[in-house]
Formats: sequence, C-alpha cells, structure tokens
Amino acid sequence: MDERYSRQVLFPGIGKEGQEKIRKKHVLIIGAGALGSGSAEVLARSGVGKLTIIDRDYVEASNLQRQQLYTEEDVAEKLPKAAAAEKRLRAINSDVEIRAIIGDATPELLEELVAGVDLMMDATDNFETRMAMNDVSQKYTIPWIYGACVGSYGMSFSIIPRKTPCLNCLLRSIPLQGLTCDTGGIISPAVQMVIAHQTAEALKILVEDWDAVRTSFVSFDLWRNEYTSLKMSKAKFAGCLSCGEERTYPYLDYENMTKTTVLCGRDTVQIRPAAASEISLERLAGQLSSLGYVVKGNPYLLSVEMGDERMVIFQDGRALVHGTKDLTHAKSIYQRILG
Ligand SMILES: [Zn+2]
Repeated sequence: MDERYSRQVLFPGIGKEGQEKIRKKHVLIIGAGALGSGSAEVLARSGVGKLTIIDRDYVEASNLQRQQLYTEEDVAEKLPKAAAAEKRLRAINSDVEIRAIIGDATPELLEELVAGVDLMMDATDNFETRMAMNDVSQKYTIPWIYGACVGSYGMSFSIIPRKTPCLNCLLRSIPLQGLTCDTGGIISPAVQMVIAHQTAEALKILVEDWDAVRTSFVSFDLWRNEYTSLKMSKAKFAGCLSCGEERTYPYLDYENMTKTTVLCGRDTVQIRPAAASEISLERLAGQLSSLGYVVKGNPYLLSVEMGDERMVIFQDGRALVHGTKDLTHAKSIYQRILG
C-alpha cells in the first residue's frame, strides 16, 4: 500500500495522515456516465475506502467517446453502466469496497443510500436528481460536489452544508435548470476538466482540509478559451427552502417525482412502475418470445425489438423506451409488454 499511494502521500496537501483519512471514507457517486466514470476512477485510484455508484442506464456505442470506464465488450453485452463500472473499478483497485446499484436515483433511494456516506459526487444528467441530492445533502449534513458539462462548456461548485450556499440558493443568481440537458454534443476534454475540478475538491474534503475547498462557482469554455470564477459568499439565501431556517426539503417530496420522463438529449422515455417490484426477466423473455417478439438480454436487462422502437426492461420493472419522446405512446408500449 505504501508504494501504491507514495506519490499522493508525498504531496503535502495529503501526506500520510490524509491518505489514512481517504482510506476510511465512503463516497456516493450519483450517475455512471461521463462524469461518474471519471470521478469513480480517480477516487478508486486514490484509495478511497468505499465507493457506491448508482446508474439507471446501460452502455451504448455513443458512450465510448467520453465514458472512460467502458469498452466495446460492454456495449456488445449491453451491460448496465453500474455493473460495467463495478467490474472495471475492481480491476483498477481491489482494496476499494465497491457497491454498484442499477436503478434510478429517486429521493427515496438516495435517503437510504446516504447512511455512512462522507461525500456525494454529482454525475447526473438531470435537474430533478441534482435538486434531490441537494436536499439530501442539507438534511443529513453531507457535502456534495456539483458538476455539469455541455459542448466545450463545464462548471463545478462545492456545497458544504452550514458553510456554503446550496444549489437551491444558487438558482436565484445562476439559471442552472436550462444547462443540464445536452442536445448539442460534447467533447471529452470538457468532461475531463469538470472531473478534475470535482475530484480535486473531493480529495480536499476527504482529507478534511476545509480551508482549501473552493468557495467560488467555476465555469469554463475550452473551445472559446474562457475561464470564470464567481464568488458565491453572498449567494446564501436565508429563506431558502433547502438550507434556510424554515427548510422543507421540497425536492424530497416523493409525490412530486415524475414517473415517466424523457431522457436528456435522446429519443428515449424512462418509465418507472408506481411500486418497485422484482420481475423475472427469464420468464418474461420466454413469454415475449412465444408471442413472436425478438428478445435479447443479459442477467440484468431484456431488450425487446418492436419495429422502430425498442424497449429495455430492468429487473425492478423500470423500462427505457427508445425511438420516441412521446410519453403517452411510450406508456402504451410499456403496458402492452408488461401489462
Ligand atoms: Zn440554500
């Protein structure tokens, strides 16, 4: 272990004591796309004690350009990202305890997962999940690091409960809602730059060097050669419903969670059943084949071809309908297949 982390231990900001602290920490990474796979790799190589990573999607060819944990083999097998990430991270560092969860990061699940977690990393592609993370962070006093990128543009902010403004406070001055969905493509260096900002902050937090934590909101455009660092000390809003005195944690209200959503930048609709229930993929595959459907799959999911559309069903009854953005149409397909 000494040799393995020697360069990091030599770095004065970490040292032997810092390395021991890193080894005792548990980080929860929400999302295993571009940002999540990068953060997970950096943290696993740094020797963090435990990593939990959650993702609802599976690996596709268009991911390989920037999602550094995945291979062509993962695409061919249609492995869920969480499962593929777990396999790769174990190969990178067998000292790290890794827990992979294939599923949707609902507020309910996040509240379950944060027990014993020291830090959360934002690697989601949607506003709703980020706001839920923000409320969970405030409710359980767990720091989290916001990160997002589109095109050649990226940004990051470190949120420490009781110290910094939260994401809900920031929305009053920065219109972050519109920036979460990527429809104009993305270049890998923008992803890497956000990962660098997020994971540097993560290391500072894991070694408890609170004075070193960045207090500004950083954003950059690598194509236009722009770098901005905005001071945020005055952004904390006393009446904030997530971190203020009369907080209600509005984004943890399960009733407000949408069950059917169009996924970011894609012709794909996600459908989550009202009550989660384990389904037998094997039995379903048999039934659908006997009805004449073309069915493929692996132990984690089933893929059903239906003309221009394709539906992927996970064990928890959740489904992704590819080839449409029409929620009603997607629901009718879901009902046809799963009853
Ligand atoms: Zn706030």
